[in-house]
Amino acid sequence: MTTTTTRIPLRTKVNALSSSSTSDLRTTNPPSTIKYGYVDTHAHLEMILEKLDTKYEHWIESVREKESEQMYSLESILTIGCKPENWRKVEHFLQFEEVYGAFGVHPLNANAFEENTFSTTVSDGLKALHKKYPGKMKAIGECGLDYYVCQDPDVANAKEWVCPVDCREHQQFVFKEQILLAKEMNLPLVVHARDAGDGDAESDCLDIMRKHCDASQKIHVHCFTGTTSFAQELLQSFPNLKLGFTGVCTFKNGSNVREVVRMTDLNRILLETDGPFMAPVPFRGKVAEPSMVPHIAEIIATVKKSTVEDVFEVCRENTREVYGI
Ligand SMILES: [Zn+2]
Ligand SMILES: [Zn+2]
Repeated sequence: MTTTTTRIPLRTKVNALSSSSTSDLRTTNPPSTIKYGYVDTHAHLEMILEKLDTKYEHWIESVREKESEQMYSLESILTIGCKPENWRKVEHFLQFEEVYGAFGVHPLNANAFEENTFSTTVSDGLKALHKKYPGKMKAIGECGLDYYVCQDPDVANAKEWVCPVDCREHQQFVFKEQILLAKEMNLPLVVHARDAGDGDAESDCLDIMRKHCDASQKIHVHCFTGTTSFAQELLQSFPNLKLGFTGVCTFKNGSNVREVVRMTDLNRILLETDGPFMAPVPFRGKVAEPSMVPHIAEIIATVKKSTVEDVFEVCRENTREVYGI
């Protein structure tokens, strides 16, 4: 595994927020369309490519082809490593110029760790990764609490997760440890919070974050599907926290998420797919992947009675604030 980056040529040079055409008035070519660069701030590349049965190089080439006629261009991707066993697979993508990574332990993998195994496997592993990829590893996570999946033993025992039904305490311990690690390593935190409908995950999540996060901590609460009160508490408690919205806000039954979008300032919003999950309309049932972000931006623009260009510009800047990309 090397730390050198492989440059995938952009068909059109993206210069976020500015026109890609220079003002050469003598040219007879039609003016090129303005390109808005966007970032998928949360995707699981290894799962996406496995489901699409393709290689990164082929996939990105097809994205470049599709977007050559569009006014939007995929600028970067933050891919997520959810457990030590797959960090290596995820690390592979850091060789590509536009890919960055976040590494941690997803709450549904938390049960694999006790106090001593956490420090040896997780803490040491994350520090080693950061040392190896100082400019590429941008955050700790995703980590947090998921009481929704683990209430259902059939889902919880699915092969991706190590999650018995009684794992809440473990989830809380592993979440807390990753918050401490993010502070120690001075990295942003990617939070996954999914409630079982009883409010427990939301209140436990707030308690743990208020107790252990610094007030200034940079936080991305990803794939937000929670209540408006949870959103408000998070946004008020942590000024550098942003909410990530996925294809869920395009779903017919996603009106509660759209309500959260409506009440959230645009400068607190991040665009993400959480691919391969949650493909936005009109791709429901398909594999979600980073080039679907514009469909999420469009619905956010509609809900906020804003323009899609504004959504792209502001969310692009929000991504720089949280992740520095
Ligand atoms: Zn998640
Ligand atoms: Zn995720």
